Amino acid sequence: LSFSDFDLDPRLLQALAKQKFRKPTLVQQKAIPLALDMKDVLAKAKTGSGKTAAYVLPILQSILQRKRTSTDKLVAALILVPTRELADQVLKVVGEFAAYCFNEIRAVNLADKQSDTVQRALLSGAPDIVVSTPTKALANVQSGALSPDKLSYLVLDEADLVMSYGYEDDLQKIAQVIPTSTQKMLTSATLSSEVDSLKGLFCRNPMMLDL
Ligand code: AMP
Repeated sequence: LSFSDFDLDPRLLQALAKQKFRKPTLVQQKAIPLALDMKDVLAKAKTGSGKTAAYVLPILQSILQRKRTSTDKLVAALILVPTRELADQVLKVVGEFAAYCFNEIRAVNLADKQSDTVQRALLSGAPDIVVSTPTKALANVQSGALSPDKLSYLVLDEADLVMSYGYEDDLQKIAQVIPTSTQKMLTSATLSSEVDSLKGLFCRNPMMLDL
C-alpha cells in the first residue's frame, strides 16, 4: 500500500514525497481510508506511530475539497491536545503537509502563552484549523471568538493524557456544543475506562483501531 492508493489531493502527495514518507505506517493504512470515508475513529496509537499524519492528511483533504464548493469562513477542524509542546508539533506537521497548498490552508495555535486579545485576533483571521488545549478552546467558544457550528472535524489527540491532565470538565462542556455531524478522531496510547467514557461523550460508534 502506498499513499497514492488513498484519494488524496496531488499537492498532499507532493508534500509527502518531499518529506520522504514512502509508505503509510500501520495506523495511517487503517485510519486514513476510514477518515476519508467520514467515519469516526478511535485509534490506539503511540507517539512515533505516525498518528499525527493519520488525522492531519484527511483533514487537509477535506478542507481542500470544501474550498472548491464553499466560501464560508468558519473553522473546519478543531484539534485538541494535552500540551503546548504537542500543539507546536501538530502545527508543524500541518505546515509541512500544506506546503503546496499554503495559501488555501490557515492554521492557528491557541495553546501558546498568548493574551486573550491575541487569541481573538488569530481566530478572527478565518483559520481553517485550530489547534488548542481543551481549556483555551472552551474559553474561546464561550467568548464567541470560536464557532463550532460548521466544524467538520474534531480531533482529540493523546486522549489518555488529556484525561489524566484533568481536562474532563472542559471536554464535557465542549462536547455539548459540537454538532453531531462533526466527524471525530481520537488517538490514545492506552484504552482505559477513562478514554472509553471520553469516547462515549463525543461519538456513538467509532471504528476502533486497536493496533
Ligand atoms: P507521530 O507518531 O505522528 O508523532 O510521528 C512520528 C514520526 O514519524 C514523525 O517524525 C513523522 O515525521 C514520522 N512519520 C510519520 N509517518 C511516516 C511515514 N509514513 N513515513 C516516514 N516517516 C513517518
